[in-house]
Amino acid sequence: MTSYELTTAERPTWCPGCGDWGILTALKKAIEELQLPNHNVLVVAGIGCSGHLPQWVNTFGFHSLHGRALPVATAAKFANHELNVIAVGGDGDGYGIGMGHFIHAMRRNVDLTYIVHDNQIYGLTTGQASPTSEKGFKTKSTPRGAIEPPVNPIALALASDCTFVARGFAGDVPHLTKLIVEGIKHKGFALIDVLQPCVTFNQLNTFDYFYRRVYKLEDDKNYNPNDKFEAFKRAFEWRNKIPIGLFYKEERKTYEDELPQLSKIPLVKHRIDNVDIRPLMEEFV
Ligand code: SF4
Repeated sequence: MTSYELTTAERPTWCPGCGDWGILTALKKAIEELQLPNHNVLVVAGIGCSGHLPQWVNTFGFHSLHGRALPVATAAKFANHELNVIAVGGDGDGYGIGMGHFIHAMRRNVDLTYIVHDNQIYGLTTGQASPTSEKGFKTKSTPRGAIEPPVNPIALALASDCTFVARGFAGDVPHLTKLIVEGIKHKGFALIDVLQPCVTFNQLNTFDYFYRRVYKLEDDKNYNPNDKFEAFKRAFEWRNKIPIGLFYKEERKTYEDELPQLSKIPLVKHRIDNVDIRPLMEEFV
């Protein structure tokens, strides 16, 4: 499938110039580059501006509840582990209401790609502080400045045994495309946190703010993405220099690999014609 074929007839309703556009473009390019047939891709979203994304990519899609993209994506992956399952959400969706699911999906190492549109604000509800808003950031809900320190998704992912931890920038689509390609190819849970300027409600973390600060980890020849301690150090860089790229990667058995009932064929292809379930039904019904 080409990016053109992956484009739906409906036009996105995102604000002009929003970072979400860059993420949608990068996702379609990644699917094209990997030559994934669209019937073998499922995009699951939570709620927020990012939640509309499955409507605008020509694959299977599921618009779930707020913070619940990961449980839906996990269930889909267990039902058919041959499917490429990509979950998308925002920082409020994934790092706020969905935080519990986020941590457990990572430690389980479910084979999912999770793309987080991290714009440091609630955009769809018109501009309240989110879990990744900087301390002191003034919004409608924090007129005197946010009083809580922000969640650090990269450090949290490293501490939760995530096997692929990356950060992209919606203003660098070729680089983000590469990260999504690698994330989909990775066997295990891949987090791609994306710096995604909300041009309407966040006047602090703008494209210009990030253009002046981001640098690529892969440009540092001494950086080793298998060194978790070094990854932790980089995870805390923010104010003047913001790293993007692959922070950390390791190989570990996936949750699906650990389940004997999935080892031969996907659950959806199991046949139960010869199984007599009457004793079970009699016991419980
Ligand atoms: Fe993008 Fe912000 Fe507009 Fe939502 S409100 S579409 S995040 S610019």
